[in-house]
This record gives sequence, C-alpha cells and structure tokens, in this order.
Amino acid sequence: MLMPDVDADKQNKLIDPFGRTVDYLRVSVTDRCDFRCVYCMAEEMTFLPKADLLTLEELDVMCRRFMAAGVRKIRLTGGEPLVRRNIMQLIESLGREVKAGNLDELTITTNGSQLSKMAGDLAVAGVRRINVSIDTLDPEKFRRVTRWGDLNKVLLGLEAAKEAGLSIKINAVALRGENDDELGNMLAWCGKRGFDMTIIEVMPMGDIGTENRLDQYLPLSRVRASLARRFTLKDIPFRTGGPARYVTVEETGQKLGFITPLTHNFCESCNRVRVTCTGQLYMCLGQDDNADLRAALRQGGPEALDASIYEAIGRKPQGHDFIIDRRQSGPAVSRHMSVTGG
Ligand code: SAM
Ligand code: SF4
Repeated sequence: MLMPDVDADKQNKLIDPFGRTVDYLRVSVTDRCDFRCVYCMAEEMTFLPKADLLTLEELDVMCRRFMAAGVRKIRLTGGEPLVRRNIMQLIESLGREVKAGNLDELTITTNGSQLSKMAGDLAVAGVRRINVSIDTLDPEKFRRVTRWGDLNKVLLGLEAAKEAGLSIKINAVALRGENDDELGNMLAWCGKRGFDMTIIEVMPMGDIGTENRLDQYLPLSRVRASLARRFTLKDIPFRTGGPARYVTVEETGQKLGFITPLTHNFCESCNRVRVTCTGQLYMCLGQDDNADLRAALRQGGPEALDASIYEAIGRKPQGHDFIIDRRQSGPAVSRHMSVTGG
C-alpha cells in the first residue's frame, strides 16, 4: 500500500470559510449491506458496480491524506462496513496509526451482524469504540425493521465485543408506532450493560420504496419528554462536534445522546466531512454539493487529491436544509444514508 507522510502540520489544517476546523472524517467503505432497514433502504436495492467503489488501497490513501491535513478521528461506516471483503486490511492499516499516535481514534458504525466473528480482531487492530445500531429488542420487530436481520446474532456479537474490551454505544432510530413504546426499556437495558445510547431522528435521505417518512417520523422532543418521566436526565456539555446533544441518565450513569438534525440546529460546531464509497467528498450531510476525490486520485495521484480536498473544504456550507414536509413526499437529499454513511 502507498504510505504518504501523515505528519500533521498546523498550517495544513482543514479550516472552512466559517472558521471551523475539520478534524473528523467519516468514510463509507461500501454501499452494500446484509440488512434492509425500512428507513434506510428499499427492499430491492441496486448497488453500485464494484469498479465504481474505491479500492481498499485507495481508501487507505484517502484517509492518510486527510490525516496529513489534520484529521484526528476516522469513523468507518457504510452500508455495512464489516461485510466489505478484506475490510480488516484497511482497519489494521489505520489501527497502526492509532497505535503510533497519528490518529486519536478509529471507530466503526455497524449493524452488529458480523461482530461475533470480528470483534476480537477489531480490538487487536486498535479499534476501541464501536457504535452498534439496534432499533428494537423484540426479535419479531427487529426482523420487520431490518427486513433481513437476526437479533440473536447481533446480541451474540455485542457480547463478543464486550468481551474483547470494546466500548459500545447503541444507536436507535426513533420510529413512530414501531419502537416509541420501547425506548425506555432499551435505555435501561443499555444501562445494565454499560452501553451508552444515542437516539436518532429519521432523516429524509434516499428513496426507500413504499415506506413513508412522515409515517416513521417521531420528534425527539416527544421521546425525551417520555423518557424524562421514567429517568432523571441531566444535560451535560459533552459535545462531539456533531448533531448529538447529550444527557446523563442518573439511574444508570450512562450517557444518552439525541440526534435531532430536523428540529435542532447543530451546524455551527460542525467538525466533520464524509467520503462516500465512490470517493465523493460531501462537506455537509444535508447538502448535495460534493467533490470527486476518486477522479482526483485516479487521474492526478495524491497531490491532486490534496488539492481537491482543500478546495472542497473551502466551500463547506454553513448548514443544512433538511425538512420533512407534507407537500414534498420525496427525499430532501436523494442519496441514501448507506452511500454517504450515517
Ligand atoms: N450499517 C451500519 C449500521 O446500521 O450501523 C452503518 C451504516 S448506517 C447507514 C449508520 C446509521 O445511520 C445507523 O445507525 C442507521 O440507523 C442510521 N440511519 C440510516 N438511515 C437513516 C435515516 N434515514 N435517518 C436516520 N438515521 C438513519
Ligand atoms: Fe444496512 Fe445500516 Fe442501512 Fe440498516 S441502517 S440497511 S444495517 S446500512
């Protein structure tokens, strides 16, 4: 693999026109997935041709160029990152940079289906924290929401991850009429196991077939009010530079995050950008403007890639325009979350 120099120099930092430093990169390593969650994908998905995807070597170079520009945290996501063939190669390569102190953190967002096989290897490679997405603890509902998922397999994966010493945060999307009555029990369940939890509002991304976003949409203000009847929630100043606002749950001592991109403005402190599995750099999850880093890398090599990255950060927008609107039935952003990465 190519190993560009990753010495971060202050002058090289990625600073956008609003003075925000970009030091967090999310990378979607595949658009494919072994689940078909109803809010994320249609049941019949047409995935991208393999040749369009960045190779593992290209992903590695891309991450390293961002590190050279001051990125300190990388999250691998998808699609399901752990179903990409030979993904451990990339994880081990970036994990070495964590061990060498060139990267603060390498994290992964996963549906958990492969964890029972892979958790040990992830920990050895240098991953310390993972986010696992589980929207319900009811096996029937889990099958309905994910269409293809097996809750038991995911729970075994969580055990393996815990055993391997990984810190775990559970991501749950709040779905009206599906898990709204269950989020309190899930929070208590997380508390017992030492897991933090984040509840996410449904975002209008990508065509999902017959399902209607308005039917799924549940404002987190309602979720929070209902949880506050059962738990003592204390606001804390903890921030990750992203759209989550955190509380501690006094009864369990764990953190609970609320991601409310539709009802809350979080853009002023945004520190992140996203690269899709085809190498498109999105400066904002909620905007379509992007830069074609794959073309830059394939046609001009790492120097052209650098130039393209800095140029794109120079047009990172101030904020997003998400709305779930009764007059507009289609998605506000046409690409799927699985392409951009959640
Ligand atoms: N497959 C992995 C997983 O499920 O964790 C990683 C990719 S998934 C796209 C990342 C996160 O985005 C998951 O927590 C998922 O629940 C969330 N997500 C997907 N589509 C969403 C949508 N339309 N609105 C809100 N969250 C969504
Ligand atoms: Fe797959 Fe994750 Fe999307 Fe579910 S949310 S379909 S697990 S990419």
